[in-house]
Amino acid sequence: VLYFDHNATHPLSAAARAAWLEAVEKYPANPSSPHRLGQRAEAALENARERLAALLGCTVGRIVFTSGATEANNQIIFHHAARGSAGWASGIEHPSLREPLLARFAKPKLVATQPSGEIDLTGLAQALAGDRPAMFALMAANNETGVLQPWQSALAMCRAAGVSYVCDATQWLGRLPARGLGECDFLTASAHKFGGPVGVGFLAGPEKTAGLLLGGPQESGRRAGTENLPGILAMVAALKERETALRAGAADERLAWRQRFERELTAALPAVRILGAEADRLWNTVAVLMPETPDCRRRWVVVLDRLGFAVSTGSACASGKEAPSHVLLAMGIAPAEAGRALRFSAGWATTWADWERLREGLLAAAREMGCSAS
Ligand code: PMP
Repeated sequence: VLYFDHNATHPLSAAARAAWLEAVEKYPANPSSPHRLGQRAEAALENARERLAALLGCTVGRIVFTSGATEANNQIIFHHAARGSAGWASGIEHPSLREPLLARFAKPKLVATQPSGEIDLTGLAQALAGDRPAMFALMAANNETGVLQPWQSALAMCRAAGVSYVCDATQWLGRLPARGLGECDFLTASAHKFGGPVGVGFLAGPEKTAGLLLGGPQESGRRAGTENLPGILAMVAALKERETALRAGAADERLAWRQRFERELTAALPAVRILGAEADRLWNTVAVLMPETPDCRRRWVVVLDRLGFAVSTGSACASGKEAPSHVLLAMGIAPAEAGRALRFSAGWATTWADWERLREGLLAAAREMGCSAS
């Protein structure tokens, strides 16, 4: 099976695997234990924190290791909600931020999205000229479309307005350089999106951030529970490897492959629409609306799976049970159309030959689904 679902999870990198295996051998103790073995584990943990802070460009005290981005996003929302503050976000945030935001704040403002998939910065400026919330969240890159968001501008606008800027960089980190992200007031990410293990991530934020999990002094009281030391060491090893590869230009060639795939796919199947085509997008992500088919209950994702391609979809067809994706709706795509959305997301090991095979697989699926080629 050809795996084109790396935005869901990326396989463990060799560097991360080696770091994880080394850690379980070398650090058998709990970092909170008072003996020398415990102290050794604690030193490794603090060293990992320093290395991560250096990669992000923030101070060490801002890093809180978590179980992933879902926990980190929830922690930020609960932190602000507990103080009775108001919180706003873009309309395209991941559910792990959007749902607690909608549940915990009274009438949170969702800033509009342009048809390109980028946030409407004019709308943000207008909103900030009125009431001011305590926090505003805009992700760095969208998980469904890969559309890069103008987070640097949002950060500057929030800073000028005295609003804390929250950046979910889960899909950006490890795919594009981390440079500048450490300046966000709150930053979240997850190891398994960039070659680290599942079940570990972090938040970078003020030292007074309230804990979501209580009952232990770990992470300076900001996250109770024994630290996942092997996972943390593997995450930092994975990110270091990605940052080094990015500095050597590893994303450039891969962006050219994605662009060529899009050109060739739309030439062969003109009824395919690339979502966010006008915007800058992650080098690994292509979201499309597939052509209409005679039977909308037959799902592209199922046909492609049988043909040997693991791809993703935000939602089922309009007659299906799943609700259409809030991201696609925010971009102005009709619910009936959103049902034909597919997402292809490559990984670091994906080659141009894999993209070519995917293109051929899509043509075969289109024939099977009863779509004509042009
Ligand atoms: N934010 C974004 C943008 C994501 O893509 C994801 C994962 N799909 C998450 C948060 C949640 O991450 P985790 O798997 O670490 O809970």
